[in-house]
Amino acid sequence: MNIDEIFARKRVVFSFEVFPPKSTTPIESIYRTIDSLTGLEPDFISVTYGAGGSGAMDATADIAALIKSRGIEPLAHLTCLYHSAAQIDAVAQKLKEMGLTNILALRGDRRPDIQPVGEFSHADELIAYLHKKGGFHLSAACYPEAHPESRNLDEDVRYLKRKVEAGATHLVSQLFFDNNDFYAMLDKARNHGITVPIEAGIMPILNKKQIERIVSNCGASLPKKYVKMLNRFEHDPAALSDASMSYAVEQIVDLISNGVDGIHLYTMNRPEVAQHIYGSVKNILQYENSRG
Ligand code: FAD
Repeated sequence: MNIDEIFARKRVVFSFEVFPPKSTTPIESIYRTIDSLTGLEPDFISVTYGAGGSGAMDATADIAALIKSRGIEPLAHLTCLYHSAAQIDAVAQKLKEMGLTNILALRGDRRPDIQPVGEFSHADELIAYLHKKGGFHLSAACYPEAHPESRNLDEDVRYLKRKVEAGATHLVSQLFFDNNDFYAMLDKARNHGITVPIEAGIMPILNKKQIERIVSNCGASLPKKYVKMLNRFEHDPAALSDASMSYAVEQIVDLISNGVDGIHLYTMNRPEVAQHIYGSVKNILQYENSRG
């Protein structure tokens, strides 16, 4: 079943994100992660794509194929800033041959050390290119607090519309810690005539270093309530883990109560995190989806 069909059937979709392990990590570790995550029967699992490096395509496609072999639909991420059209053709061909037809089409982050190829400048161009090729279901990224390169949310949502007009039929949000940011973006998107399902990206943070790195990478802001929690429990990993998982569950319950299309959980390849969160909202999801 492709991603569009999943959204057509469900009131609230629940999905996970994983990333390919570093080349220094034994490949078996991802097998165990995938076994545990697929055992929770999420609606789909997305697999990130390394922005540079020739092994990126193989790693993402292989893990996506593994997920598919376990009976769960995979969504393969693909970035374009550092690829030529010929390289995108090769990736698309490989994905099709492996039966992988769901792609989250992205521009990718700019890297100061690498010169972009110059054939694709933004995600909407990749989406249009893949859409024209045919045979793929295309998803794209959106940003509750606007992308860090955007002047403001209005500008960001105008470009988001282009991605949908180019052929994206599903959007996944950047992580956020204040649901009001997500609701504001959602309102703007709907007011701009974006009608496709928009999934909320949720990430439970397990240590302070991780949060600092993530916030500096993606520009997500931390509400006062969150900072208080972080400062209070930062020296006790078990307490911080409990607190941030509860925070994520609270976010999810509020999002579902407000009619969100789906929750995309950034698992950080930690099945125990996914198990905990899923276990805490399982009955809510079942109730919502039993309502037809
Ligand atoms: P774009 O949609 O191109 O947007 C980038 C900026 O340009 C924004 O400010 C936007 O408003 C503006 N813009 C968009 N279109 C145009 C246009 N036509 N003309 C002018 N300006 C425009 N990175 C990875 O390397 N690998 C991954 O697997 C990965 N997965 C991700 C998954 C999700 C759900 C999210 C939210 C992000 C992910 N990223 C990943 C990070 C992503 O690559 C970066 O956020 C990147 O900087 C922007 O990608 P984009 O596809 O949103 O770009």
